[in-house]
Amino acid sequence: MHQQEGTGHGPSAGDGPHVSNSFDHLEAGAKTAAGPTPPQPGMIGRPMGHSYPSLPPGYQKMGIPPSASPLQSPKPPYNAAHQPYQQPLAGPVQLTPSMAGLSLQSQTPEALRVVNLLQERNILPHGAVPPPTPCLPQDLQKFNCSPEVFRCTLTSIPQTQSLLNKAKLPLGLLLHPFKDLSQLPVVTSSTIVRCRTCRTYINPFVTFLDQKRWKCNLCYRVNDVPEEFMYNPVTRSYGEPHKRPEVQSPTIEFIAPSEYMLRPPQPAVYLFVLDVSHNAVETGYLDVVCQSLLDNLNSLPGDARTKIGFITFDSTIHFYNLQEGLSQPQMLVVSDIEDIFIPTPDSLLVNLSECKELVQDLLKALPQMFNKTMETHSALGPALQAAYKLLSPTGGRASVFQTQLPTLGAGALKSREDPNQRASAKDIQHLTPATDFYKKLALDCSGQQVAVDLFLLSGQYCDLASLGCISRFSAGSVYYYPSYHHQHNPSQVERFQKDLKRYLTRKIGFEAVMRIRCTKGLSIHTFHGNFFVRSTDLLSLPNVNPDAGFAVQMSIEENLLDMQMVSFQAALLYTSSKGERRIRVHTMCLPVVNSLSDIFAGADVQAITGLLASMAVDRSVTASLCDARDALTNAVIDSLATYRSSVLTIQQAGLLAPSCLRLFPLYILALLKQKAFRTGTSTRLDDRVFAMYQLKYQPLSYLMPMIHPVLYRVDDLTDEGALNINDRTIPQPRVLQLSVEKLSREGHYLGVIKHVLPELRSRDWNCSSSFLSQVLGVPNYSAVPQNMTRLPELDTAESVRFRAFIGWLREQRPFYPVLHVIREESQLKPSFMQNMIEDRTESALSYYEFLLHLQQQISK
Ligand SMILES: [Zn+2]
Repeated sequence: MHQQEGTGHGPSAGDGPHVSNSFDHLEAGAKTAAGPTPPQPGMIGRPMGHSYPSLPPGYQKMGIPPSASPLQSPKPPYNAAHQPYQQPLAGPVQLTPSMAGLSLQSQTPEALRVVNLLQERNILPHGAVPPPTPCLPQDLQKFNCSPEVFRCTLTSIPQTQSLLNKAKLPLGLLLHPFKDLSQLPVVTSSTIVRCRTCRTYINPFVTFLDQKRWKCNLCYRVNDVPEEFMYNPVTRSYGEPHKRPEVQSPTIEFIAPSEYMLRPPQPAVYLFVLDVSHNAVETGYLDVVCQSLLDNLNSLPGDARTKIGFITFDSTIHFYNLQEGLSQPQMLVVSDIEDIFIPTPDSLLVNLSECKELVQDLLKALPQMFNKTMETHSALGPALQAAYKLLSPTGGRASVFQTQLPTLGAGALKSREDPNQRASAKDIQHLTPATDFYKKLALDCSGQQVAVDLFLLSGQYCDLASLGCISRFSAGSVYYYPSYHHQHNPSQVERFQKDLKRYLTRKIGFEAVMRIRCTKGLSIHTFHGNFFVRSTDLLSLPNVNPDAGFAVQMSIEENLLDMQMVSFQAALLYTSSKGERRIRVHTMCLPVVNSLSDIFAGADVQAITGLLASMAVDRSVTASLCDARDALTNAVIDSLATYRSSVLTIQQAGLLAPSCLRLFPLYILALLKQKAFRTGTSTRLDDRVFAMYQLKYQPLSYLMPMIHPVLYRVDDLTDEGALNINDRTIPQPRVLQLSVEKLSREGHYLGVIKHVLPELRSRDWNCSSSFLSQVLGVPNYSAVPQNMTRLPELDTAESVRFRAFIGWLREQRPFYPVLHVIREESQLKPSFMQNMIEDRTESALSYYEFLLHLQQQISK
């Protein structure tokens, strides 16, 4: 089954049964709320002559960005009109033609500085790669959405599709909509102010025509300002609608009134579905899950209504009656897996606070209950059907732990992997699911507001390409711990423990939907992430979590000729774990440009790489892996060729890139060497499919360290240029190229931080003795333990500095990176060396060879 989740219009085939608790129309689209007056962009946007002196800072005048010199000389068109009201420039037909036609090229910003990649070797910045700042007037830019939440591949939007086609760069948005935020304005209001035509939420980029009317920045309809909005709860003053938090903050959350509900908000409901076959018991994972739950039971997000339940399964399905009043948990075995029924439905999902002792008793007993099992079969499909039936009345989250290929009942699978093909340089088979059972069940789950998270712990092939569909289409997540074993793989155990803690205690939103709107003329067409698309452009998210990312592709359907800027708005409607219906809204504004050089100057190389990675995953599945690899390489060739032929005014030799795209070839090479897309290097099928899932649903900030890990030299950390955070001094060593050349024989300890299996590895040919003694606490190299994953807490300056640095790196990742100290002869060394993506391997080009290949193709 090749259907992609986002490409279809209208409900996709295989949609779940029609259900009453679908929230589609609550985050209503234009159809349900069309106002009486159609928008007429050409006719509105003139100053209305009303006296309205106290505009918000962002609107008083067209602020000039310090670098945008060409915009400086002409005066804003309405400034000299002797009107007390100054027309803000956030709409169409507001620039004089001569001004709109101005190009930014003459300023030659740093982004467009010509870099000859064949000559310039040091192209990595000292620290993190900063996202580009949209070229907007500063007064507007300061209201813009954080790039950590909302990013566009092109921070300057082309005026027309044909201009976009010419640039050969992808246009799309990357979102991290439910990111953990340290500050979030929350508004409680009986009226949420939205455009009557397109349902856009009022935001910092709308225009106030006067005190009574505001103009939508997406469809240009003029709307009335409701009376209630005239009062500002923050300043407690009246008559300043433009100072309301809704028009001061690009990210805001509303507590939704009852019209945003179809039923009372659901309680937090958690169901755990655990594999207890012989294989599962053998891995020892049950101890960790049960202990983590015991440790975090009071930290599960929820309130007094929170419910919890458990299912275990091998060749049969086991339910647990945890009803209040029982002296101990009661196990109920259902052995007819062909037609699953739920015994005593009312006592299997129980109120957590009322039944906590029974739940704790069960968690303490579970790891031993199946100790002696000889049952090798796995009826995963029937267990999932049971979970679906149990959760259907309320909605909620199913957390499924699986350790082998399912062998019994619906959804049973056979191994499809041929280990001899793992290193094949030809096309990779079996990236598509073997059965549509998991997708269909996921769509049923989605219809009942149930999301399924899959934890796969296995040394054997489990057909993740099939199993993963259960999470992908129900807006769940997939976690994968290859070769998990409680004794043989202690670092996996540590990672699993830390991941579970994050998973159990992080924020969660239930029965959610998300819609992305954009200014008239732009059109969103392909979605990437884990969800199901209902009614054209509404993403159905039974659960939403702070670690989920989304991407969309866009096209320009109508020319944006008269517009100076366009806006994008993502609205996420969800039920909090405390039972509140909430709407989180993010709005981003970007300038419109009409020259290729301006488009290139605004290119966001990381966002482009992230979007291309998602597109390449789709291509691998619908066409072939080779096709996807070619498409990635062609993306660099085409854009750099365009830059050379159409942007550069002075021709010169070499492989030339604008500074803002100088990392593009490196990132694409890194993708080609990534587990998802590499060929010729032995890669297990499940590892490859898992990497593809990650590329599709991780937020960009998690994705980049996975695509291009960061290498530091850490044996000579100093306080020079260090950060100071909460009285801690955090050293900031230089980021090094990912090349063996950088693993100098004199400098010794280096680390690579990756996200997936984020290991800090150190390498030692001639370890400096001070590092060994002052940081690792050993007298000499031979005393370094073989599998060292913990640092001693020594009272030396070096140890304090090193641990501060590692701690800081860990804080930036929601999932815990395990540290490995790798000796020269360690088994982990080959996987460490695979991170050296600038180097040549038997099956892949070095960075320099790749550049030569690109140059050859471009000069053809
Ligand atoms: Zn509108």
